[in-house]
Amino acid sequence: MQLKFSNQLPSDTYRHKGMRRKLIDSLAAKGIKDERILSAMEALPRHFFLDKAFEEMAYEDKPFQIGSQQTISQPFTVAYQTQLLDIKPREKVLEIGTGSGYQAAVLAMLNARVFTIERHESLHQKAKTILKNLNLQNVRCRLGDGWKGLREFAPFDKIIVTAGAETIPEALKTQLKIGGILVVPVGSPSQQMHKITRISETEFSDEVLNQFRFVPMLKGIVKG
Ligand code: SAH
Repeated sequence: MQLKFSNQLPSDTYRHKGMRRKLIDSLAAKGIKDERILSAMEALPRHFFLDKAFEEMAYEDKPFQIGSQQTISQPFTVAYQTQLLDIKPREKVLEIGTGSGYQAAVLAMLNARVFTIERHESLHQKAKTILKNLNLQNVRCRLGDGWKGLREFAPFDKIIVTAGAETIPEALKTQLKIGGILVVPVGSPSQQMHKITRISETEFSDEVLNQFRFVPMLKGIVKG
């Protein structure tokens, strides 16, 4: 997998690549089996999405602060949620919680057509710039409240929520295609991962999986 970066981005050195290789090996050891996901994450420099101060730690399997009291998810969590989505090329995917843009970039590298929503204007702008500099064509960033989904582009093959929801967001269930999958962490203060599949117009299955801790999914948007 090859990316063509704009020269606006920091350099991606052999040292970064080496650290990334080790991170990928550790994700595989933790149960991530999907080779497409592992190679997308190996090709994508995570340090581009973090402040310079965290560059050295970018390849540890940990979440980090990205401003506005938000975090970039831990690489294992990104790989785990992506694996549950089972992305096929050209699928239409909605992400709630753009944050740094890293998860959206991983989805785009799997050739999904990605729509991503962020409620913080500053994070939305920053992620938009990084994704543009990565030359990823198939990601569209929106400033908005993910509780409402994105009706004008629905239905989606897959929907991923990367913030902790107190309850299952009903609007998102209705924006799934039949056979579509919604992956959402539900609960407070920690969350259980739910994999919800739309079986018919009115029926859904709900698989409850591992426990995680996300920043909360909140309502409304934050300007500036
Ligand atoms: N996917 C991100 C993880 C970001 S953390 C990444 O790869 O970096 C979760 C993000 O969800 C935060 O940026 C937070 O501001 C955002 N968020 C929380 N509630 C939201 C909502 N209702 N709509 C859109 N974004 C939301």
